[in-house]
Amino acid sequence: MKIGVIALQGNVEEHVDALSRVFDGEIVKIKHKGIVPSCDAIIIPGGESTTLCRLAWSEGIAQEIIGRAMQGMPILGTCAGLILLATRGDDEVRKTGQKLLGLMDTAIDRNAFGRQRESFESPLSLPFIEGGPFNAVFIRAPAIVSAGDGVEVLARLDEFIVAARQGNIVALAFHPELTDDARIHKYFMDIVKKHSRN
Ligand code: GLN
Repeated sequence: MKIGVIALQGNVEEHVDALSRVFDGEIVKIKHKGIVPSCDAIIIPGGESTTLCRLAWSEGIAQEIIGRAMQGMPILGTCAGLILLATRGDDEVRKTGQKLLGLMDTAIDRNAFGRQRESFESPLSLPFIEGGPFNAVFIRAPAIVSAGDGVEVLARLDEFIVAARQGNIVALAFHPELTDDARIHKYFMDIVKKHSRN
């Protein structure tokens, strides 16, 4: 099995490390087109969504991600990754002319928490993991402000949705790769394994 981490910018190594704790197959860092089609799953890390988005389209990676997502390939998007996955951006996204991937029926606020608090940690109860709350690290974090019926809300913080799933796509407003707790990466791997068996 092969899992790709989009490596255009942002928390790439941290995701590779976190993934390698729960997955012993091949992990590839993706900077160019031509690799996503052979991946069984991908992770879109946090970073700066404008840069990530621009590079993903110009490198031809965005088009490949959309193609594979249509075939059901599992995707984990964290922080800026959550922004890229959304169908609807906010004014900031519109102003910068960002073209999102539009794979998850969600509307996002690009800097929902960032405006108030640059970074913070919060214990989150997540329905899909056992062993108590997950210490979620938020950094200039976005959030989902509304979601369609096909989207399962996994966690909320204040008035925002901070974790959600639509089919095989999981979006998180926080950074599970920045903690030693691999439970979320393990949860994602369970989705990947289940998908590859089908
Ligand atoms: N809010 C940031 C953006 O718009 C994302 C922050 C992050 O990924 N840590 O790009």
